[in-house]
Amino acid sequence: MTLNLLIMVVALPYFMGQVNRAARCAQMGIVLQTAGWISLLLSSTFPRGGVGDHLLSTLAMACVSSGMVFNAFAFELWCGRKASARAPAIIALVMTVGYGIGFSSYAFRTGWANGLLALQIATVVFMLCRRPQVPVGRWRWLLVISLLIQMVVLAWRGVLGAFYTAEFPNFYTPHLLNQVFALSSNAMMVLSMMAILLAHRDEAARELEMLATLDGLTGALNRRAWLLQSGIDLASSVRYQQPLGVLLLDLDYFKQINDTHGHAVGDRALQLFVKGLRAVSRAGDVFCRYGGEEFCVLLNCADFAAVMSYDERMRQWLAQHSANELGFALSYSGGLAMRLHDGDTIDAMLERADVALYQAKSEGRGRTLASSLPPGT
Ligand code: GH3
Ligand code: MG
Ligand code: MG
Repeated sequence: MTLNLLIMVVALPYFMGQVNRAARCAQMGIVLQTAGWISLLLSSTFPRGGVGDHLLSTLAMACVSSGMVFNAFAFELWCGRKASARAPAIIALVMTVGYGIGFSSYAFRTGWANGLLALQIATVVFMLCRRPQVPVGRWRWLLVISLLIQMVVLAWRGVLGAFYTAEFPNFYTPHLLNQVFALSSNAMMVLSMMAILLAHRDEAARELEMLATLDGLTGALNRRAWLLQSGIDLASSVRYQQPLGVLLLDLDYFKQINDTHGHAVGDRALQLFVKGLRAVSRAGDVFCRYGGEEFCVLLNCADFAAVMSYDERMRQWLAQHSANELGFALSYSGGLAMRLHDGDTIDAMLERADVALYQAKSEGRGRTLASSLPPGT
C-alpha cells in the first residue's frame, strides 16, 4: 500500500499538471498520508519503545492525521464551501500530542490513536454528507463508503488495542483484522483516487461553464448567455402576453476616460457600472456585458414606464456613486426597444434599441431614447 501511495504521490501531480487549490489540497493530503506510512514502517526498524520508535511513530500519527485534514479541505472546496476543517484539525492535534505523551503505554497509544483517527474520519464523513453548495457528482458517495470502511477498521483496531491488548496484532501477524485492514486500505486507496480525479473533473467542468457564461472583468453575464436567456424570456412574454423591454446602454466618452485616467481606471469604471446594474436590478431583470463598454438589460414583465424607471434608477445610482468611487462622473447613453408584437425577435429589438442609442448619442449623450413603441403606449 505504501508503494502504491508513493506512486500516486509522484504520478498525480505529474499527470494532473497545474491544478487549483482543492486539487493541491488533495495531493498534499496524499503526500502526508504517504509520509505517515513510511514513518510508521521505518519506526518498526528501531528498537521497540526506544527514542527512534517514539519519534517516528509520533511523526507518523501527525502526518496521517494532518493528511486527513488536507483531504477534508479539498472535499469542502469541491462541495463549494470554504476550506475549513476545524473538527478534523483539532482531533489531529489532540491525537498526536496525546500519542506522543502516552507513547510508553502500548494499550493507551493504540487505543487513543486508532480511536481518534476513526472519530476524525467520522467528522469528515459528516462534512461530506452535508448538502453541497454546487452540483457534485457521485464521487461524494464513493468517498463516504471508503471512509466508512476505514473508520470501522480503525475503530476495531482501537478497541482491540485498548481493551484486548494481548490479542492486538502487530501489522505482521496473520490476524483477520490485519487481512481486513490490508484489503480495505488498498480498496480504499483505489476508490479515493477515483473520487479525487472525478471531483477534479467535475470542478473543471464547472469552471469551464462559468467561463463560458460570465464576463471575466465584471462578472456580468456575457452576450452568449444573455442571448440564450433572453430567447427563453421572450417566448414566455409572448405566451403570457406580458410586456418586455430591452435597454442597450453605452458608456459615454469611454475612450477618453481610458486615455485620461488609464486603462485600469477604465476597467474599474466598467466594474462599477455592473455594480450599479446589480443594485438597481430586480427579479426578472437580466443584464449582460454586451461587449466593450456596452451593456444590455432585458426587463421581464416591464412596460415602457417600468423600463424608463429602471433607467432613471441607474442614472441616480451612478450620480451618487461614480464621482466618489472613480473621481469623475460616469454617464451613459441608452436605447430602448419594447416588444411590439408576438412575432418580434430579440435581434430585431436590439436593432431598434441600437438605432435609438445612436440617436441618443447624436443628441448629446447622457440620455435614453426609445424606438417606436407598441400601439397604445
Ligand atoms: P461614445 O461616447 O461615442 O460612446 O464614445 P466612446 O469613447 O465611449 O466610444 P468608443 O467606441 O470610441 O470607445 C470605446 C472604448 O472602450 C474603446 C476601448 O478601448 C474601450 N474598452 C473596451 N473594452 C474595454 C475594457 O475591457 N477595459 C477598458 N479599460 N476599456 C475598454
Ligand atoms: Mg460603444
Ligand atoms: Mg461609448
